[in-house]
Amino acid sequence: MRAGRDAGQGRSETGDPSVTTPLSRNDRDVILVGAGIMSATLATFLKILEPDWTIEVFERLPGAGRESSDPWHNAGTGHSALCELNYTPQGPDGTVNITKALNVNEQFQLSRQFWAHLATEGHLDPTAFIHTVPHMSFVTGDPNSAFLKARYEALKDNPLFQGMEFSTDRDTIREWAPLLIDGRDESQTIAATHNNAGTDVDFGALTKALLKFASERGTEITYNAEVRDVKRGDDGRWTVTVRDRGNGSTEAYTAPFVFIGAGGGALHLLQKSGIPEIAGFGGFPISGQFLRAKRTGVAKKHQAKVYGKAAVGAPPMSVPHLDTRYVGGEQHLMFGPYAGWSPKFLKNGRWTDLFTSIRPGNLLPLLNVGVTNFDLEKYLVSQLTLDHKKRIAALREYYPEARPEEWELIVAGQRVQVIKKKGKGGTLQFGTEVVASSDGSIAGLLGASPGASTAVPIMLNLLDRAFPEQFEGKWAKAVKTLVPTFGTKLADDPALAKKTFEATSEALGLAK
Ligand SMILES: Cc1cc2nc3c(=O)[nH]c(=O)nc-3n(C[C@H](O)[C@H](O)[C@H](O)COP(=O)(O)OP(=O)(O)OC[C@H]3O[C@@H](n4cnc5c(N)ncnc54)[C@H](O)[C@@H]3O)c2cc1C
Repeated sequence: MRAGRDAGQGRSETGDPSVTTPLSRNDRDVILVGAGIMSATLATFLKILEPDWTIEVFERLPGAGRESSDPWHNAGTGHSALCELNYTPQGPDGTVNITKALNVNEQFQLSRQFWAHLATEGHLDPTAFIHTVPHMSFVTGDPNSAFLKARYEALKDNPLFQGMEFSTDRDTIREWAPLLIDGRDESQTIAATHNNAGTDVDFGALTKALLKFASERGTEITYNAEVRDVKRGDDGRWTVTVRDRGNGSTEAYTAPFVFIGAGGGALHLLQKSGIPEIAGFGGFPISGQFLRAKRTGVAKKHQAKVYGKAAVGAPPMSVPHLDTRYVGGEQHLMFGPYAGWSPKFLKNGRWTDLFTSIRPGNLLPLLNVGVTNFDLEKYLVSQLTLDHKKRIAALREYYPEARPEEWELIVAGQRVQVIKKKGKGGTLQFGTEVVASSDGSIAGLLGASPGASTAVPIMLNLLDRAFPEQFEGKWAKAVKTLVPTFGTKLADDPALAKKTFEATSEALGLAK
């Protein structure tokens, strides 16, 4: 672990950058815990908005983007609700609710804008992390086809979903994705939607590129450095205790603002910070597995991300999908996820993670979720008993001619689903939740969905919460340049939606 930077001048504890206080060797303006996509995005924003602030990132692993942000630990979908059916639930009367889909898409447009800005300025090479991959939904059976048609009708005229096509015709669907059709029972009712605006994102490559940008501008990144404790001092600054995983030594650093971008490790650290806002929160880990085609020949036969319908009891993010992926410049094909289970909160975490997250304040919510989510538990047990043959059977529902010997199993990242106090019990949530102290001086991110795709709006909202004066004041103009439509709704302005989509596609080298 590297030592901290030399003594210097820093931002004042009041957050007013014009007032500086003398800082000691281990004092920083900002400390970011974890080197995943969230911290990388925040470090990039801060280095643009406040180039002189001292920022340090502590990461417990030997490199960046090695937990959930690693390309093989997530599905790499640029989540924009073009194909994910769980964002458009159907009511008992058959109507499709598109509110969540609009929200997810709006958020992804903001991420695209920030990446496009950085690419235009020459700071990011888009070919290293984002590719056009059409997004498709694919279903079988009459009720599901009717649902998909209703979903299509509800979305097709919205400015954010332009170009969406629907078909029940085998030849049309074969043109979009031949693997879905060849070898399929002719009598089966099928339906699909297709949209060329979809993307595949290598969030690991993006994390590394953003951290490179931030580190070239003075951000310190220290690897093998595990944050073990976070405590507030009498002077209002946060003291972060960091353990060198190489030699076991510990060192303390301080900052007036700390972001816990520790992924699955965030719950423990927020609990240690003692902020009242974390009371009642718990976590339930679900791990994932994917099948990956061993040969690129198979991968090259498919060019789409095809999302289906979730099984009964399956958590929303366990919807099966057959995905084109671009990782390390190569095209791949992946199917899954299959759920797995381990009590670890990080893939490289500890077996005691779940147990040590239990506090008097979250015990009841945890127990309550345990006894009320029978469908989920049944689903998890059924997934844990799957062998290669059964996994291939699930794959064949999408790719009927899949051959078992052509696929290998890979283990994805851990997702820690948020358990939140509700009344006397608790509720299991599948989204993300920013938990911050009332003064915004410490914040952390819990949960994992829609995840990395929404890193930009999540970090912008966090900056607004932590630094409201700067955000509304001296940063406002810069934020408008970095993410022009932040604060507006593209869905309400078709002309702006079209212009923005075309401009970001141009800058990122994506289909328009
Ligand atoms: C199976 C699966 C599929 C997914 N699919 C998608 C998808 O298709 N699209 C999408 O947008 N999102 C997807 N996600 C979600 C996405 O991967 C995450 O939301 C995102 O990567 C989280 O980024 P992060 O920076 O918060 O966490 P991470 O990438 O996990 O980074 C956290 C970092 O903090 C470090 N850390 C933890 N504790 C400490 C500590 N005490 N001290 C120092 N460092 C610490 C970890 O080592 C890690 O490097 C998926 C996730 C999973 C698991």
